[in-house]
Amino acid sequence: MHPYLEETLDRVRSRNAGYPVFLQAAGEILPTLEPLLGEYPEIEELNLLERFCEPERQFLFRVTWQDDDRRIRVNRGYRVGFSSVLGPFKGGLRFHPSVSLDIVRFLSFEQILKNSLTGLSLGGAKGGSDFDPRGRSDHEVMRFCQSFMTELHRHIGEQTDIPAGDIGVSQREIGYLFGQYKRLVNRYELGVITGKSASWGGSHVRKEATGYGVVFFAQAMLRARGDSLEGKTAVVSGAGNVALYTIRKLEELGVRVISCSDSQGSLHAPGGIDFATLRQLKEVERGRLSAYPLSSGDTEYRPGQSVWDLPADLAFPCATENELDRADAERLVANGCRLVCEGANMPCRTEALEFFREQGVLHGPGKAANAGGVAVSALEMQQNAALEQWPFAEVEARLEAIIQRIHDRCRRLASRYSDPDDYRTGANTAGFVRVVEAMRAFGF
Ligand code: GLU
Repeated sequence: MHPYLEETLDRVRSRNAGYPVFLQAAGEILPTLEPLLGEYPEIEELNLLERFCEPERQFLFRVTWQDDDRRIRVNRGYRVGFSSVLGPFKGGLRFHPSVSLDIVRFLSFEQILKNSLTGLSLGGAKGGSDFDPRGRSDHEVMRFCQSFMTELHRHIGEQTDIPAGDIGVSQREIGYLFGQYKRLVNRYELGVITGKSASWGGSHVRKEATGYGVVFFAQAMLRARGDSLEGKTAVVSGAGNVALYTIRKLEELGVRVISCSDSQGSLHAPGGIDFATLRQLKEVERGRLSAYPLSSGDTEYRPGQSVWDLPADLAFPCATENELDRADAERLVANGCRLVCEGANMPCRTEALEFFREQGVLHGPGKAANAGGVAVSALEMQQNAALEQWPFAEVEARLEAIIQRIHDRCRRLASRYSDPDDYRTGANTAGFVRVVEAMRAFGF
């Protein structure tokens, strides 16, 4: 390993000892950037790697709210602005009990490269809370969001930091957050948050964007090898927004999706999952997957089981970080899986990724494959700035073109610095090169 890279990794490790997930991401990304060191001497001269690994700013705040029984509850709020060299801080908010500063820093770090890959002017950020919206009434969610925004509003703005949704934050939460922001600042500043409903300032396709983008990326990977999605079978983990719209687009493009999951178990539908039924259950009723109606005889619900033991050509991890380990990877490959495309951020553990690479399984890394969400957020910002709303088909076509460009750029840089199918090196180097150029231009 290049001595500068090694020294930087050591310093990053000692400075971030309490942040294992962030360090996992840094440990995966930094070594793939090694081939850039020869071509860009300023990376070492200006210590750009170490600067890249230290967040520009982070906020931690108390969120106090009242539940329906009038009890006062306390949660923790976070917003990490990791990098604003390519544009204002941009990234989602996650409301989930697993949220910690470590998770938010890891997500925010990944977001720098993801946002850079879109080719648009977006910095990297992430935020959220350990609040769990599951099982909470609309009123409780509203009071929580209002309290969260009462603190967050000081730090955001359409030129400064633009949040959006993520796990546990959908159009309902975005509505309450925007409503409170508007009240506090006395401005109808649509561009301050994305993921808004298309009925009041949002963009068509934003809800579908991450999932659709994941499928467009898989399609591009297959197309590059003269293959297509048509007629293949797939497993998709998760049952949230990303999983839902990955399933929908896969089915539209002729793929049979035989399984999806939530934290309690998985569904096995050999004939294919019925998207309309799943959407009704998850998006309208906000129910658990165990409540999916088992009308067709061969569909079953498997408590406590993941989707990775089922035979399928394609796998789409769309649940959360580190959900797929080496044993899962071995099972998938033994059952004939040839492509893994990530809807979640860093869903595959390092050993799983190593195994896929050894076995020649095509791997679409999350920061490239799931960039469709943030890309359509940028289109939403463009529409807000122009006081316009573009038709569904137009936004979808733009999304597909952006994903194709990301794919091609990853492949081009992968060919240059590794081999054409090494999308991980391709995505990391392609994302980082833009960051290097802007950091150099701005001085320190
Ligand atoms: N949370 C999503 C992501 O990870 C969306 C971010 C955004 O739209 O700003 O990319």
